[in-house]
Amino acid sequence: MTIETSNFMKLNLRSRSSSRERPLTNLQITNSLIRTNSCNNKKLIDDINLINPSTSSSSGSYTSSSYTESDSNNNLLIYPKIDSNSEPRRLNATCIKYGELVVLGYNGGLKNSNQSRRKSKFVLNRRDLPNGVKPCSQHVLQTQQEADNLIQKNPNHSVTYTLSRNQTVVVQYTSDDKTDMFQIGRSSESAIDFIVLDTRVPNLKILNQNQQSTISRFSCRIVVEREYPYTARIYAAGFDATKRIFLGEKATKWTNEKGEMDGVTTNGVLIMHPTNGFIGNDSKSNEWMEVSVCGAVFSLSETRLTPMISRVQTNNPNKNNILRDGTLIDLCGATLLWRSIEGLQKTPTKHYLDMNLEYLNNLRPQCPVGLKTLVFQTESTPMPSMDTMSSSSSLNSPDRIPMVYLKCGHVHGNHEWGIKKDNDRECPLCRKVGPYVQLVMGVEPSLYTDTDFLNMNNLFKPYAFRPCGHMASEKTCKYWSRILVPQGTTQGLNSICPFCSITLCKEQPYVKLIFQEGV
Ligand SMILES: [Zn+2]
Ligand SMILES: [Zn+2]
Repeated sequence: MTIETSNFMKLNLRSRSSSRERPLTNLQITNSLIRTNSCNNKKLIDDINLINPSTSSSSGSYTSSSYTESDSNNNLLIYPKIDSNSEPRRLNATCIKYGELVVLGYNGGLKNSNQSRRKSKFVLNRRDLPNGVKPCSQHVLQTQQEADNLIQKNPNHSVTYTLSRNQTVVVQYTSDDKTDMFQIGRSSESAIDFIVLDTRVPNLKILNQNQQSTISRFSCRIVVEREYPYTARIYAAGFDATKRIFLGEKATKWTNEKGEMDGVTTNGVLIMHPTNGFIGNDSKSNEWMEVSVCGAVFSLSETRLTPMISRVQTNNPNKNNILRDGTLIDLCGATLLWRSIEGLQKTPTKHYLDMNLEYLNNLRPQCPVGLKTLVFQTESTPMPSMDTMSSSSSLNSPDRIPMVYLKCGHVHGNHEWGIKKDNDRECPLCRKVGPYVQLVMGVEPSLYTDTDFLNMNNLFKPYAFRPCGHMASEKTCKYWSRILVPQGTTQGLNSICPFCSITLCKEQPYVKLIFQEGV
């Protein structure tokens, strides 16, 4: 297994935290303020017959002609069954779903969060009333006071660029009834729709226990066109409670070729559109790019950001701020995956993932040492617990917990045999020595790249990520092992387990699982 690291590993992400020192530049950058309104006003509802769903389960259900699920707010969503040759159309009973943002590293849930706006996954639904904004006027002012006065007179959304003590540019925004805006950041202010905190990466050394968050309070905003195809665009920085964005004297700013001010934020918002998409068989990592406040994108360099700005290639369709299925968004501390509604319709359901586990349980895999039948947790089978002191015959007994030798993939129970130094274990079947870890199913369906789940006979062959033991399909493990993600401000780009964010082993990032079938 070789991971393509050619240009990516050289990327020095430290420059992100030092961007305050970037010199003020007046570079020409191709305009991106103009948003092409490519919606073609498809009539979504008229020509589709409503299917009465018999049940509305959280995991979704199929009928012969539709797929039904309910979202986190119990809104019922109905999609006509997909035909890969036709354009995906959807009919909604109560709302239209644009897509999902999944935070990498949480595997379907977030412990200890009592905030409804902080979760592992954020669903973007069409708003009842549009709340998008678009730039409408630009003012050059002598002092900050003049800028404040201007904004007081017109308290709509605005971006303030402080160029020097004697020059401030204010760009005022106006409502856009064709778009919805969603804001993401660390702040718990109501202006933020989706609160994202720094992801704790299990195997990265924490140098300083009091290390401050590197995610901005108002990190980025996503603006989605309200009409099909619901084009979603990402912009750096979010508006605060006073509807303002500030770029101070030290932030990198420039005037684009249309004379409009633009700039980037301190730690930046990076995006990466994987080559060949999220579910392609030959998908792979692509170049990470930085997004500006006005949505321009440009290359990062291993030296500094600034010299690269002139290299923007806006004619290249791959270099834009339009989110597509599988686009990764890095907020410098957490990485988000965008799943479009079209992509989600081809993604396995939670039910399918549970069926895979049930199938494994039905094989009655056995531990060759303890001779116990191993049990995976499903909806109906509670997870055995390492702490459980119940009798060994119980399903909850710890020696029924499936464990894997990461070197060879042999699956055993939680026994004490073959302990070597440094907690390594010797596999009794093949004598390879290495880590021995618990297998935990990856249960967040949106992180799976598989598409052939509609055929229920087509269950996947289980693989596990190394070194964490998160279990997923072969295709999903291979995909994520090829995708490089920024980790922290100094760790460069690595492939990570999408379920826990751990850095994957460079050699052999995943292993095929080998079970001993029982009788
Ligand atoms: Zn083995
Ligand atoms: Zn993992």
